[in-house]
This record gives sequence, structure tokens and C-alpha cells, in this order.
Amino acid sequence: MEPVATPGADPQFPMRGVAQPTRDEALALPGLHVSRHPIIAAKLTTLRDENTTPAEFYTLVRELGALLAYEATADLATEPAPIRTPLEPMVGQRLVGGVGVLPILRAGLGMAEGFRQALPEAQVWHLGLRRDERTLRPVQYYNQLARAANLQVCFVVDPMLATGGSGIDALDLLEAKGVRRLRYLALIAAPYGLVALRRAHPNTPIYVAAVDERLDERGYICPGLGDAGDRQFNTL
Ligand code: URA
Repeated sequence: MEPVATPGADPQFPMRGVAQPTRDEALALPGLHVSRHPIIAAKLTTLRDENTTPAEFYTLVRELGALLAYEATADLATEPAPIRTPLEPMVGQRLVGGVGVLPILRAGLGMAEGFRQALPEAQVWHLGLRRDERTLRPVQYYNQLARAANLQVCFVVDPMLATGGSGIDALDLLEAKGVRRLRYLALIAAPYGLVALRRAHPNTPIYVAAVDERLDERGYICPGLGDAGDRQFNTL
């Protein structure tokens, strides 16, 4: 596969003239899991709708975060856990080690809340990355990461995988901290971001609810849903 071209220098239209992989090319990437769950598809459609209010939008992001977390944790390792029920002893299962979830601020916050509905004991590691609107490159402004001791896996969550820049930076950071098992969760991904992420982190499984067509000249995913941060936090 061809390497993805880097975004251009035009501050207003950084993706203008930049070649993008097709949706079919992205769908063929190894380690990419695209949800086929009808409830996820239905909720995602309401999420995309321009008539959905910010309050409904935030609720849906949380719900989709929980459902996607459920799919992406289906193969976590467990170990035998001997307990007593009120009737008799039995051997159940418990998760081996802790689970981390790293929301990329601020759009990842709703997904992380949903993730915690599925797994309340997850450690939440916050990472603030904003997009430099001129270069589309992520700039780090906040970093509250815990010690990686005894984590089975850490999930990076961000609703929109657009150019892939912030996702790659977050995964680089976790790798540098020694987190060995990483996964990436997004609601909607663009082929460009998927190819870039796969090239930078070939072994990190990626879970998404949908793969869209392309990025527009400003770097927004089309058809997408607009700005996931502004729509969650009512700052449109
Ligand atoms: N971030 C968003 O919120 N939306 C996009 O379409 C791309 C990046």
C-alpha cells in the first residue's frame, strides 16, 4: 500500500490536493474491526443527524462508547476466581490485571464515560491534544497518565479518527510508558487516518463503528457528523 501523503500547508484547507486511500483499501487493513451490530448502526445514525441536540448527542456518544467497549473487550484474559455463593463454593472468573482507558481530550470524554459503564473499575488516563488547524498536527496541552503497573491493556478512545495524528501520538506515548497491549477505539474513521494509524502501529487492533468515505479539504470526515467535541459540549 502507498504511504499516506502528509497534510498540506494551506492553513484553511490542509487536505486540499492530498491523495487519500479509498474506503475499500481501508476496509482491507489487518486488525481493523468494524462493528456489524444493528444497535450500534442505529444509534450512530441518530448521532450523525444534524437535528440531534447536544444533550442527545452526548448521551449517544456515552452509549456507543459502552457498546464498543463491550465488543472490544470480548477477548480479555481472565483467571479462575474461587468464591462462595450463598449456596456453595464455585470457581468464577476475574479479569487478569487492570484495564486503562485513555480519552483524547476533549472529544474522547463521552466515550470514556461509556467505557466506564461497561467497566467501572477501569483506570482513566487523560491526554489533552488539540489540532493545530494549520498543519492538522496534534499539540499536547495536558497529560495525566498513571503508572502502567499491572495493566492488561489500555484503550485509546476518540470518536473521530480523521488524519490519525492524535491517535498515533497517544499510542506512541503509551508505548513509551511501557504499556505493552494497546487498542484503539473510534466511532467513525476516515480511510486516511486508518491507513496512517495502521502504518505507525501495525499491531494495535482498531475498533470502529463505521468507516466513512474521505476527509474534506478542512480535514473533516465525510459524511461524518461534524465536530464531535462541539456537538457533545454544546459549543457550536
Ligand atoms: N474531528 C471531528 O470532530 N470531526 C471530524 O470530522 C474530524 C475530526
